[in-house]
Amino acid sequence: MQDSRDYDEEPVVYCAKCYSLKIKYEEAIDADCCMDCGCSDVLTSSIDEWEKLYEQRYGHKFTVKTHDPKKSFIFKLPLEKLKEKVFKDIHWRDIIQNIYPHFPGGLGRADSLILFFDKLTRDNRLDDLRLLLLNHYRNKGNGREEVKKCRG
Ligand SMILES: [Zn+2]
Repeated sequence: MQDSRDYDEEPVVYCAKCYSLKIKYEEAIDADCCMDCGCSDVLTSSIDEWEKLYEQRYGHKFTVKTHDPKKSFIFKLPLEKLKEKVFKDIHWRDIIQNIYPHFPGGLGRADSLILFFDKLTRDNRLDDLRLLLLNHYRNKGNGREEVKKCRG
C-alpha cells in the first residue's frame, strides 16, 4: 500500500483564470496556454489543493467528462431532423465537401442534400456527419469556425 502513497501528491498544472487542466504548450508565444480560455497564466499545485479551489469557485466537484460524442444530442436526432439541420446551415456546402471533397459543386441545395444523404447512407458515414456537426456547433460557441473549405 505504501507505493500508492504519493499518487495524489503528483502536482497538476492548471489555468490561473478558469482553473482548467487543459494546459498546452503554445509554441507561438513560448508559454503554456489554457486551451479553454486562452490564458497563459498557469499555476501548479497538488491535486487536492486544485480540487478544493475548483469546488470553491464552481460550487461542485470537478467531474471528468468522458465526452462520449455518441451521447450528444446530435446522435439522437432522427435522420429527417439531421437533414433539416444541414439544409438550414449556411455552411451546408462546406459540410458536404468536408466529407466528400469531390462532391459535385454545380447542384443546388436541395439536390445536393438528397445526393449527399444518399451517399452517406450508402457509405455508412452518417456518424461522420454527426461528428462533424458536433464540432461545428461546439466551435460556433467559441466564435470560431471549424468547418473549413476543403482545398483538395
Ligand atoms: Zn483558462
